Amino acid sequence: MSEELSKVYEAKSVEEKWYKIWEEKGYFTPDPSSKAKPFVIVIPPPNVTGSLHMGHALDNTIQDILIRFNRMKGLKALWVPGTDHAGIATQNVVEKELAKEKKRKEDIGREKFVEMVWKWKEKYGGQITMQLRRLGASCDWTMERFTMDEGLSKAVKKAFVALYDDGLIYRGKRIINWCPRCKTAISDIEVEYTEENGKLWYLKYPVEGTNEFITVATTRPETMLGDTAVAVNPNDARYKHFIGKMLVLPLVGRRIPVIKDNFVDPSFGTGAVKVTPAHDPNDYEIGLRHNLPQIIMMHHDGKVNVSHFPKEEQNDISSYEGVDRIKLRDIIVADLEKGGYLEKIEDYKNKIGRCYRCKTIIEPYLSDQWFVRMKDLVRPAIQAVEEGKISYIPDRWTKVYLNWMENHRDWCISRQIWWGHRIPAWTCDCGHIIVAEEAPKKCDKCGSTKIVQDPDVLDTWFSSSLWPFSTLGWPASVKTSAGRPDEYTGDLKDYYPTTVLVTGYDIITFWVSKMIVMGLKFMKKEPFSKIFIHGLIRDVSGKKMSKSLGNVIDPINVIDRVGADALRFALISLISGQGQDIKLSEDKITEARNFSNKIWNAARFILGKGKSEKVKGESFADKWILSKLNRTIDDITGKLEEFDMGEAARKLYDFVWSEFCDWYLEMSKIDASDKVLVETFEGTLRLLHPFMPFITEEIWQKLETRDARCETIMLSSWPKADRNLISESIEEEMAVVKDIVRAIRNIRATLNIPHSKELVAHIVTGKKLGAGQVEYIKSLARLEKIDITAKISKKIEGSAAAVLPEISIYIPLKGIIDLNKEVERLKEKISKLDVDISQIKQRISAGKNIPEEVMLEWKEREKELMRQKDTLIGQIDSLSA
Ligand SMILES: [Zn+2]
Ligand SMILES: [Zn+2]
Repeated sequence: MSEELSKVYEAKSVEEKWYKIWEEKGYFTPDPSSKAKPFVIVIPPPNVTGSLHMGHALDNTIQDILIRFNRMKGLKALWVPGTDHAGIATQNVVEKELAKEKKRKEDIGREKFVEMVWKWKEKYGGQITMQLRRLGASCDWTMERFTMDEGLSKAVKKAFVALYDDGLIYRGKRIINWCPRCKTAISDIEVEYTEENGKLWYLKYPVEGTNEFITVATTRPETMLGDTAVAVNPNDARYKHFIGKMLVLPLVGRRIPVIKDNFVDPSFGTGAVKVTPAHDPNDYEIGLRHNLPQIIMMHHDGKVNVSHFPKEEQNDISSYEGVDRIKLRDIIVADLEKGGYLEKIEDYKNKIGRCYRCKTIIEPYLSDQWFVRMKDLVRPAIQAVEEGKISYIPDRWTKVYLNWMENHRDWCISRQIWWGHRIPAWTCDCGHIIVAEEAPKKCDKCGSTKIVQDPDVLDTWFSSSLWPFSTLGWPASVKTSAGRPDEYTGDLKDYYPTTVLVTGYDIITFWVSKMIVMGLKFMKKEPFSKIFIHGLIRDVSGKKMSKSLGNVIDPINVIDRVGADALRFALISLISGQGQDIKLSEDKITEARNFSNKIWNAARFILGKGKSEKVKGESFADKWILSKLNRTIDDITGKLEEFDMGEAARKLYDFVWSEFCDWYLEMSKIDASDKVLVETFEGTLRLLHPFMPFITEEIWQKLETRDARCETIMLSSWPKADRNLISESIEEEMAVVKDIVRAIRNIRATLNIPHSKELVAHIVTGKKLGAGQVEYIKSLARLEKIDITAKISKKIEGSAAAVLPEISIYIPLKGIIDLNKEVERLKEKISKLDVDISQIKQRISAGKNIPEEVMLEWKEREKELMRQKDTLIGQIDSLSA
């Protein structure tokens, strides 16, 4: 054949070469003239600050397999790439840069800072997309988007204004989770809760005009400055007579009422609780029910703000001004103790919420925020899933999604940071709020020009919730504002709705649900019909990969070492049908690298054969491999259509490694048609291509039998199974050949019979063995002669035996090995095995507190040792017969 392949597969240079060619030739862009059905994926946009981690590698390999498979099947396959501006994450990175110059962002001002972030983005933001290229991702880079590019910014403004006009966005005071370090609200799901050892403080509040006290228990004593009531359960007999009385708040002197509220749990603490409506979500609700004042006692950075307190109190508490909430706790407790208001302190296990970004303790905080009213928006999003218009794979995520959607709270979309989509709302001096896509020149109510834009930006998930249609040109490609499907133009018309979304389960609530909501709202059609949810990557023992544990496997490092194909194959073959988390090990990566070497060596063998004229009628080996190949094509196609990439990869591995390389290549040396050999290999390469795009392209280009009309395997057609070539009977006959050959090879191995010695085999079986089968057995097992009989007339002395279902094999060994010596050797081996067996038995009986999987492993080992012993005993029996 035409060109030689290098001795060793050089993944790095091959991968670089092909990716460049693919991208330059525009193979990733679907043919605009194609009338085929579209197959569309929008990438979950990685953070622009990100670098590729194993989770990305898995997620994007899955998407690439689906895209390459459907592209080869002839569909109009489009994969839209892009990155997310990742509000807080990116802002934090640039703030850290600034900190190196000992500056804060406030020192340079908002405009300069945002400019700096853009510069950072231009310089470093392309890292992750370069890394996706190294993975082999066949995204259409001509369609690449960024959540803050011009078009997407337009989409965000349009969506915001439309939701506002429909009464679905409102401004409200709400208790939100406030990070005093990031100085922004963060959403409920961005708070990480941990159980920590805390304290419970018992504070005594005097009853006005008496010598009595009510004792309240609290985990956050410093918030007492903001208390505006004490609440008790209406059925709590201990406090009935206090209800309606006034207390005097220690340190502050504020008069606060004792109120009754069913929310209060009489068994917690003393049964009486302090109520701080501006700094606790439950107290906030109680406050609303009882019309209590809300005192926001802190600045945005978590320091006391005395100016928010009633005038008459400000003098008494002026010493607390500017004290940080963490320090404040000690000061308040000391002051309370000094005044005789501290009854006792107890240890208490407490759930503490921390910012997922910077781990600072979250402060529940009453503030002005923008919200999306979710109640009406989620209804169609629930319906779409219930009616099966959108389905989750695996199905178990349906329940998680529905459950979460049914309990959806309003979505707080404002963030108090600088990097992001600025909220398109302006407040006039007269108090009027103007929401518009373009900056207004004056107030549309009073005409004043004293209008200021809201300083906040939108939650990052707001722009990514529009991603499936904003990336395809919305709103520009909708002719009218109504946005009915028949009015879409351009990409939106061709590619929306997309086909499948691929993502990890950790962002179903953050992102997936919101895309469904927004897609149905603005496009009147669900954004995708399938959601493929995969597990998360863990280390081999099941632990999350993290820098602090030191168990991170870096995908780029793996690609450098073994190539992208091997990494892809290792990841995909670990996916289970139920989408469990994936335990990645170095062994698995080595196995995948060996697999690519196996393919490479097969190619070298096939290409090195030189052109031969042996194109005679198909042999038994040919018929068998064609049957297996076509069955495999059917299997793999079916599995990929069901999104079972893991099973497809495993089946393909078995076919390539065992059937094709280990058996068929051996048989082809005896008797096979070169045409079948090369054609089978060519078809196999196309089956492998979506999984291992680089090595398959490199080899395929050198095969003369490839479809010459195609410049690349990427655009060649997906193999189609010829079911007429699938033959149960040939596969069964081959199974017998394999069994017999394996049995004889085992005998050779246990008895140390060198490969060079040809043997004679007596095979006793009622089965009919065809002439073809016999020839292969002779050759593959290195036999001089085969003697097949239906019954055995007399025992064959001094022979090794193997017994298979319906087949017995005897190999006479007189003159081939020294039988007595061999029996002695086998006996020695048995006594060694006996030692091992008694050891493992002891371990099993002693191991009571052993993890189940270790125990199973031991029992497996015991069984294996027993099996080995049985084999040896059998061999001794037959040798000494
Ligand atoms: Zn934070
Ligand atoms: Zn006005």
